[in-house]
Amino acid sequence: MSVVLSAHDTPAQSGSNSILAFDVEAVRRDFPILTQQIHGKPLVYLDSAASAQKPRQVLDAMNEAHECYYSNVHRGIHSLSQTATDHFEAAREKVARFINAPSSDQCIFTRGATESINVVASSWGRKFLREGDEILISAMEHHANIVPWHFLKEQIGITLKIIPIDDNGDLDMEAFDSLLTERTKLVGVTHISNALGTINPVRDIIRKAHDAGALVLVDGCQAAPHAPIDVQELDADFYVFSSHKVYGPTGIGVLYGKADILRDMPPHQGGGEMIDIVTFEGSTYKDIPHRFEAGTPAIVEAIGFGAAIDYINAIGKEHIAAHEAGLLAYAQDAVSSIKSLRIIGQAREKASILSFVMDEAHPHDIGTILDRRGIAVRVGHHCAQPLMQRFNVSATARASFGIYNTRTEVDAFVEALEKVQDLFG
Ligand code: PMP
Repeated sequence: MSVVLSAHDTPAQSGSNSILAFDVEAVRRDFPILTQQIHGKPLVYLDSAASAQKPRQVLDAMNEAHECYYSNVHRGIHSLSQTATDHFEAAREKVARFINAPSSDQCIFTRGATESINVVASSWGRKFLREGDEILISAMEHHANIVPWHFLKEQIGITLKIIPIDDNGDLDMEAFDSLLTERTKLVGVTHISNALGTINPVRDIIRKAHDAGALVLVDGCQAAPHAPIDVQELDADFYVFSSHKVYGPTGIGVLYGKADILRDMPPHQGGGEMIDIVTFEGSTYKDIPHRFEAGTPAIVEAIGFGAAIDYINAIGKEHIAAHEAGLLAYAQDAVSSIKSLRIIGQAREKASILSFVMDEAHPHDIGTILDRRGIAVRVGHHCAQPLMQRFNVSATARASFGIYNTRTEVDAFVEALEKVQDLFG
């Protein structure tokens, strides 16, 4: 592994929150895609919140799986199948340790966070919810944590209630307290907002929800790459995230759940891998996690996911968090000189995301101008249309910072925004 921490020998300062920095240039060398030019300019990739780039270690692990021991998992008696199964299950162990799950059986591989939430809604929701039951979600949820609950509204007649946020993008916790009643069966909340960067007080939310008798599902998509996660300390009932946001491949993610809750849930899909005995009269099912993993899983992707977790662990979440906090502070400070720019989302605690609008310039114009300078940002509603409505905007431009970004890149970004201001001012 070529990740090199420079903390012990090069005590470089990188922003107010960091103690010692890791060697970002060494990290960048692990990401082959970053060396290219776009429109003749060095690529500045500020879109990791949508999907992060993959280090060579992940690509190599996946190549090795395909070249050396690829086979279907679990059912094979032959050597390749056993090796593939060992690597696949080792990846599950890595995921479990990454979030401090009590057991890897509680980590179900899914296609991603979206599927994980849909599993909870369609399996747990359809079994345990009745007409008039309430689900509480926040005003800053991604569509993945809104639409599955709409299905239950249509199918069962549940009520969806929304925890409001203030103008800074902080959750209104007093409103949360009053919305939480004995009718609330589940609170679904994002750990970190993909569109604002708000870090939500999930431990507090979980404690209060449990006192009211409700379960809590935490959408950890944006937290998993940036912050240490301990599902036991949080006491989360469900925790979901996707591999592709933590520098792993697409097509795989996790649904963590408490064991007794998962064991009470019926399978959401039927097929191979998830059964115990099948006759034409009926089927019995395997225990967790396999009960929720019908069909051939994303084998090589799981192995890549495990390699991505190894990569993050080798650097250390505390170094990543410090590096990104430094970049965010630096960027927020730098854009404050651009008078036509307004940051959307100024929460007390924020992570790695800078969402903004500019007078006159539509976010799509901003995105296009930045792209001509090699800078990749996301523009649009960020799969959070209700949140955009809350801020009276149709879209924002969003820069999101990852492990490989540098202050030089932030400088290029700010210079490009100055250009936008000149063009539209
Ligand atoms: N929740 C949040 C907060 C996200 O940022 C995303 C991805 N943008 C999702 C859910 C959905 O993740 P995926 O598309 O990987 O299923």
